[in-house]
Order: sequence, then C-alpha cells, then structure tokens
Amino acid sequence: MRLIDSHCHLDFPDFDADRNEVLNSARAAGVQGFVLAAIGRKHWPRLWRVVEQHQDCYGTLGLHPYFLADHQPDDLHSLRQQLQLYRQHPRLCAIGEIGLDWQLADTDRKLQQFYFEEQLKLAQEFSLPAILHVRKAHADAIAALKRIPLARGGIIHAFNGSYEQAQEYHKLGFLLGIGGAYSWPNARKLRSLLPRLPLELLVLETDSPDMAPAFVTSQRNSPEHLPQLCRLLASQLLNIPPEQLAHHTSTNLRRLFGWA
Ligand SMILES: [Zn+2]
Repeated sequence: MRLIDSHCHLDFPDFDADRNEVLNSARAAGVQGFVLAAIGRKHWPRLWRVVEQHQDCYGTLGLHPYFLADHQPDDLHSLRQQLQLYRQHPRLCAIGEIGLDWQLADTDRKLQQFYFEEQLKLAQEFSLPAILHVRKAHADAIAALKRIPLARGGIIHAFNGSYEQAQEYHKLGFLLGIGGAYSWPNARKLRSLLPRLPLELLVLETDSPDMAPAFVTSQRNSPEHLPQLCRLLASQLLNIPPEQLAHHTSTNLRRLFGWA
C-alpha cells in the first residue's frame, strides 16, 4: 500500500528525539510522502530544515488561525518574501495552514478573517493551492473562497462539515482531508457522511502529533499510523479494498500538487 500523509507536523519538538526513526518506520509501512503544514513565522525555519533533510518531505508556508496571538501584520510581508524565495523550490507545495477557527473562545474573528483573506490573495498571486483549517466556520470560509477563488484549489484539512459544504468545496476545487477523527465514538455525523463522498474528493492525513485516532493507544499521533487508518477507514466504513482508497487518495493529492 502506497500512501502520502497530506497533513502532519513532523517539525514539532514532539519528534525531536526520534524523527528519523518515525520517518523510517512510516516509509517501511508504505508512506511515500509527508506534507508538513506550517503554523507561523517563528517556526518556518524549523519546518524547512526538516524538509531540506528529507527528499520525501514537502513544506508549506503560512499563518495558522489557531496561533493568531503570535502573528503580526508584518508577518504577511515576511510570508511574501519567503514565498518569493521558495517559489522555485520543488517541495514547496502550498500556502498553509490558514483558515478560520470559530471554535476558539474569545478570538478576534475580524483579525482571523484579515489574515485568512490576505493569505488567500498570496495563494492567488503565487498560484499555489491552500491548506485550510476550518472549524465551525465553513459558511464564512466558503464565502471568502468565492470572493478570492484559487485556480489550483487546495485541501480542507480535517474536514468535519456537511454534505452540502463538501459539495461547495468541491466546486471551488478543494479536496477534503480525512484523518482519525471519524474513529471516535462521538463522530457519528462524520461517519455517516464519509461513505457518501466521492473518492475523487478525499485525501488522507494524520495531523501528527495531534488527532490520534481511537485505535492508537499512545498520546502522540504519527504518520506510522496512516496505513492502519487507511485500512480501517476503507474496510469498516467505505466498504472498499484499502488499496483502492490508497490509490485514489494518493492520485488526488499528486494531481492537486502537480507531482508526476
Ligand atoms: Zn495541522
């Protein structure tokens, strides 16, 4: 089974002690690529050090809405400079992760919206796909994407919206990132939705070190669990051979990022 982890944070300190071992054991299990999603200016160099060290690691650049308090308006200028610097880099694959998170209490929604839309404009300008983090904010995210459409689309990471929202994203050129969230008992809505979605819309992700699936006993999630995630999702929920899910999700991701 050949898979790509479309969303992980292998640059986080959680992996400092055993990053190479984790990568090697994920590779041995069939994971052929790792997309590292960026969270903020301060951590871009850390992420790109990991990407530079491993040919199968891909990187993004962006300002994550969850870390709003860390961002400065000037970070958008830095982002632009970095994008100029990295635009020819063969393993820069997207702007991300960016988006809207209305689940956060006491967040400045106007400010989130500002960073989100400014970064969508950068994705337009640099002709890059975007990796989106959207929680309880799908209507506003879809409205923003209609105002600032991306020719190359992107991924709604850890998708947990409705069937209608999935269709809206599809029309806007977006794929849906599916990870371990469906495996938890309270994810009834997501479990009933997933079998209704066309395979052409799905990509697989772990969001490591976060979002450990129910079948993982350790606290830390890891790309090593992606093959198991694919097997269980395919056999228990979608009723298709795991190889078929692996094939479709990898092909979808390769097409989005323009990988041969
Ligand atoms: Zn993430």
